Amino acid sequence: MDMKNAKSVHCLIIKTGFEAYKLVNNALVDMYAKRGSLGCAFTVFNHMQDKDVISWTSLVTGCAHNGSCEEALKYFCDMRIAGICPDQIVVASILSACAELTLLELGRQVHATFLKFGLGSSLSVGNSLVMMYAKCGSIEDANRVFDSMQVRDVITWTALIVGYAKNGRGKDSLQFYDQMLASGTKPDSITFIGLLFACSHAGLVENARHYIESMNKVYGIQPGPEHYACMIDLLGRSGKLVEAKELLDQMVVEPDATVWKAFLAACRVHGNLELGERAAKNLFELEPKNAMPYVLLSNMYSAAGKWDAAASIRKLMKSRGISKEPGCSWIELNSQVHTFLSEDRGHPRTADIYSKIDEMMLLIKEAGYVPDMNFSLHDLDVEGKQLGLAYHSEKLAVAFALLTVPAGAPIRIFKNLRVCGDCHNAMKYTSGVYLRHIILRDSNRFHHFREGKCSCGDYW
Ligand SMILES: [Zn+2]
Ligand SMILES: [Zn+2]
Repeated sequence: MDMKNAKSVHCLIIKTGFEAYKLVNNALVDMYAKRGSLGCAFTVFNHMQDKDVISWTSLVTGCAHNGSCEEALKYFCDMRIAGICPDQIVVASILSACAELTLLELGRQVHATFLKFGLGSSLSVGNSLVMMYAKCGSIEDANRVFDSMQVRDVITWTALIVGYAKNGRGKDSLQFYDQMLASGTKPDSITFIGLLFACSHAGLVENARHYIESMNKVYGIQPGPEHYACMIDLLGRSGKLVEAKELLDQMVVEPDATVWKAFLAACRVHGNLELGERAAKNLFELEPKNAMPYVLLSNMYSAAGKWDAAASIRKLMKSRGISKEPGCSWIELNSQVHTFLSEDRGHPRTADIYSKIDEMMLLIKEAGYVPDMNFSLHDLDVEGKQLGLAYHSEKLAVAFALLTVPAGAPIRIFKNLRVCGDCHNAMKYTSGVYLRHIILRDSNRFHHFREGKCSCGDYW
C-alpha cells in the first residue's frame, strides 16, 4: 500500500468511527511507522487513550528501522517510564539502535532488562545481542551470547564472523566460518563480506581468492561491489596492483564508489598515477561531494613531484565547494555521549583535559613517541605543528577517558573518519604507559591498543 492509499484508509477509519478501537489504532501506527511516516505514526499514537505494548513496539521499531535511532531510544525510555513491559520485538530493535549508535553501556542495560523480564531467549533477540556487542567492539561479550544460544542461524554466525574481522582477529573469523559450515549452516552474501574483510586485514590473499571463487561456484551467490572492493583492497595492499586491475576489468557488476575507492588507495600505495587518475575521475562523478579522491590524487601528484598538477586538483576541489569533513571523536560515559572536535575547547572539563594531554605527551615522548609532522597542517612552525597534532580529536577523547574511566576498565573511543597515523602511534604508547586497553573504532575498523601494540598490526 502506498502513502496515498494509507491516508485514505485512515480517513475512512475516522469517518466510520473505528478510530476508538485500540486494535485499529495500533494497525495505523504500525502502517505509518513501517512506511517511514514517523510524524503520522506519532500523531495517531499521541491521540490514543490506552496504549499497550503493541502500540509502543510499532513506534519504537518504526523509528529504529528508519534510522531514527535516537528517537527509538527516547521512546523506549518513555515506554519503560510508562510501566510497559517490553516484548522481544522491541528489545531486538532497540538493540540494533544501540549497535548503530555504538552505545555499549545502554546496550548492556537493555540486555539486563531483558534478562530481568525473563523474556526467554529468541533467535532474533540473540542475534541482535551478538550484533550489538560485536558492533560496539566487545567481541568477548558477543561470543558469550553466541555460546549461550540454543538455536543459531546464518545471521548469528555472520554477526560473529564480521565482528571478529572488524576487531582485527581475521584468523578467528575464518575459524568460525569453518565451524559454521560444519554445523550445516550455509553462508550468505554478508558472510562473504566478513570473510573477505578478514582476509584483507590479515593479508591472506590465497584464502580470499578461494572464498570469492566459492561464492558463485559452490553457493550460487553472485559477488557484489562490496566483495570486489575487499578483494581489490587486499590485492592492492599485497603489492598486486596488476591483478587488482584485472579483477576490476573482469567485474560482472558495475564498479561502484567503494570499489573505486579501494582501487584508488591501491594506486596510491604503488604510486601509479595513470590508474589513480582513472579511479579518481570515476569517483568525482559517483560521489561529487567526497573530498577523499581529491586529497589522495593531489597527494599522489605531490609525491611524484608534479606540484602544478597537485595545486590544480586542490583548486578544483575548492571551486567545487568541497571541504574535508571535520574529524570528530566521541566516548560514552554513564550513558552520556561526550564529543570532541580537533582543538576543541567546548567541553566543561577542558582545562583538566588539556593538562592531561600535556602530561600524556611528556610521558609518551619519554617512552619513545616521536610526533609525525606529516599529519599536521603546513602553515605552522614546529612547535605549533606539535601542538596541533597533540589536540586531534581522538587524543582529546583519550585524555578525557584517562580522567574519567576507572582504572582497569577498557577505554572505548569512536571516530567518524580514519584514525591518523600520528594518533595511531600515540595511542600505542598511551596504552603502554598508562597500562590501559584502548579500543578505537574508526570509520573502517576497530583498533585494540594494548601494551604498546595495536591489533591491526599497523596495517589499516
Ligand atoms: Zn590524529
Ligand atoms: Zn591499529
